[in-house]
Amino acid sequence: MSNNPCIICVAITGSVPTKAANPAVPISVEEQIESTHEAFEAGASICHAHVRNDDETPSSDPEKFARLKEGLEKHCPGMIIQFSTGGRSGAGKTRGGMLPLAPDMASLTVGSNNFPTRVYENPPDLVDWLSAEMREYKIKPEIEAFDLSHIHHAVKMNVDGRIPGKLYIQFVMGVKNAMPVDRDVFDYYVKTVKRLAPDAQWCAAGIGKDQITLNDWAVSAGGHARTGLEDNVRLDRETLAPSNAALVKRVVELCDKYERPVATWQQARDILELQPA
Ligand SMILES: [Zn+2]
Repeated sequence: MSNNPCIICVAITGSVPTKAANPAVPISVEEQIESTHEAFEAGASICHAHVRNDDETPSSDPEKFARLKEGLEKHCPGMIIQFSTGGRSGAGKTRGGMLPLAPDMASLTVGSNNFPTRVYENPPDLVDWLSAEMREYKIKPEIEAFDLSHIHHAVKMNVDGRIPGKLYIQFVMGVKNAMPVDRDVFDYYVKTVKRLAPDAQWCAAGIGKDQITLNDWAVSAGGHARTGLEDNVRLDRETLAPSNAALVKRVVELCDKYERPVATWQQARDILELQPA
């Protein structure tokens, strides 16, 4: 698989982990830029970002996203910037309020499912609005597939033009009350993407201790990998991850093990059909 570079995405902050869980979780925009820079140097080529308020609660403030984008473009030139339109930071269209900033990518969940304590609501009209905004600002969606039906629906949106270009689909496993970490399901996801959307690229994310499990499965099966403190704050049961970069390094080691080159940001932009930086 030496001709198949592996794109490493670092999910730096998320909506949930706090400094009480791990002091290395970057909260302020300045901390986010510094943490991303280290992860970029370690091999990550996509930064998946949420922003937070000063009290660590989730925010959807476009001004914070704008400062983050500006800082990342300055300190991590070429890195792919992906903003989250996930549901924890705000309801409805506020989730896409930062899309006019035209990041390279944005996450897009095309259906609903349960989360640990509530429903992750992605009603059809909101999904259509978010995807229309992404077309308007030429943002490539990363489809967050929490369920098999999300893969099917993304393919439908791709075929009818609501999601143009080659699909990029992320399998998310291990969120409590959503799809568990299950190898047979993972293999079926890969098979389904290959069958329904042969041009698509895929990646995978695991939550908590299973982050490394999904990293291993994805790298060895020819997909791309997501890591970062958003999904997991530990190296092992006893050890907190000292940084986002430390989690990126674990994926780089897996790429070495399975003889896959780590994608440079130029290669990642090429694979994902993004504009040059
Ligand atoms: Zn996220």
